[in-house]
Amino acid sequence: MIEIQSFDKKSLLHLAFTGLTEDELQQMAAMSRLCTYPSNHVLCHEGAYEGVFYIIADGIATISKNISEQDGERVLRIAGKGDLVGEMALIQNVPRSATVRTATDCTVLEMEKKDFETMLSRSPSMAINIIRTTLDRIRENDQIAIQDLQNTNKVLHHLDRNKLEFIQVAAHELRTPLTVLKGYVNVLNSFPEIKANPVLSEVMDGIVKGADRMHEVVNTMLDVTRIDSETLKLRAAPVLLKRVVSDIVHELTKAATERNIELTIAQDADTPNINGDPTLIQKAIYHLIVNAIKYTPDGGKVILRSYPITMDKDIPGVEVSVQDTGIGVDAEQHELIFEKFYQVGDATVHSSGKTSFKGGGPGLGLAIVRGVARAHGGKAWVESSGHDEVNYSGSTFYLQLPIDPPTPST
Ligand code: ADP
Repeated sequence: MIEIQSFDKKSLLHLAFTGLTEDELQQMAAMSRLCTYPSNHVLCHEGAYEGVFYIIADGIATISKNISEQDGERVLRIAGKGDLVGEMALIQNVPRSATVRTATDCTVLEMEKKDFETMLSRSPSMAINIIRTTLDRIRENDQIAIQDLQNTNKVLHHLDRNKLEFIQVAAHELRTPLTVLKGYVNVLNSFPEIKANPVLSEVMDGIVKGADRMHEVVNTMLDVTRIDSETLKLRAAPVLLKRVVSDIVHELTKAATERNIELTIAQDADTPNINGDPTLIQKAIYHLIVNAIKYTPDGGKVILRSYPITMDKDIPGVEVSVQDTGIGVDAEQHELIFEKFYQVGDATVHSSGKTSFKGGGPGLGLAIVRGVARAHGGKAWVESSGHDEVNYSGSTFYLQLPIDPPTPST
């Protein structure tokens, strides 16, 4: 660091703070010192409590911020002659929020925190000046952050499209050989030798169950690509909601009974029928009920309700709720679990089986539920006091649908 005397401190201060009186400029000049630093010298260290602020007199400095271990440092802006650096942390009494590094040989006017505060208390015009500069900077940083978010959003959107395309291709490619496999298994199954041999028929049963489960997963993959695609067109028809729920319960009763789980239907008599895509709505409710069974321990309860409601903007609708006495969901996961392929905890330690306790799944069920809700102009969400595998306080999942889906804008 070289301290120099010859620089005209007052004209520099005038450049940094317009509106200061001659007297104030004089006082400030007396409290500050001019120093020169070589290139690549760090004036402010991000995260450190430091007691000096700087006005650049000559040269250039970069202001950068550590984004993450992966992304490293990111330059936020370049400061040149007349620019203030390092004053924000002094005003707020907080650690430096960014690193300031000289990019060339730099001459700076330095002022200690206590002198800076004395000046601020003496000169209202300087205080206003600092507020203005700080607000401008915050606005500038906001703009950078917004731009960053917009760019990242575009990239994420693109990656999401790629992921969907991949799922679609993979599902189609798997479906053909699976169909062939199931065909051959059916032929084999018809041989009397196999039927007569208990060991072989058990093996065949296993193959059929495995192939059926794979088929179901492949279909779920195709469902999610269809629901997520921007071109989804609803095939609207009358949906007898109470009937849909009771049919699914009927289908799943055997699986629930095997695990001693009580499935109760408590639908309001005035649950309205709705107009919507019957297949999609059936799938959404199916996933909710399968999940409730899957994430409830043996001996638990699942209650299904449906009732009329008035949605936002006074739109008449219906709500289906699926309440369980299962493992529950922590608040920070309430939104994430509706993302494609998102699973809480380690997916590799799940047991297998569609309805076995914490049985594995592709992590697509709730993405389908939310996709179906949105396609109909409705919504889906969860309420739960948290993940608890001691008291099993459970969760309630809600699916809200309007009686008439919105007409698509053309
Ligand atoms: P999958 O069940 O195939 O993992 P889903 O999209 O259906 O995928 O669910 C995502 C995650 O949400 C699950 O892995 C589970 O952690 C959590 N979840 C879903 N339903 C429930 C429920 N009823 N109770 C507790 N957790 C649930």
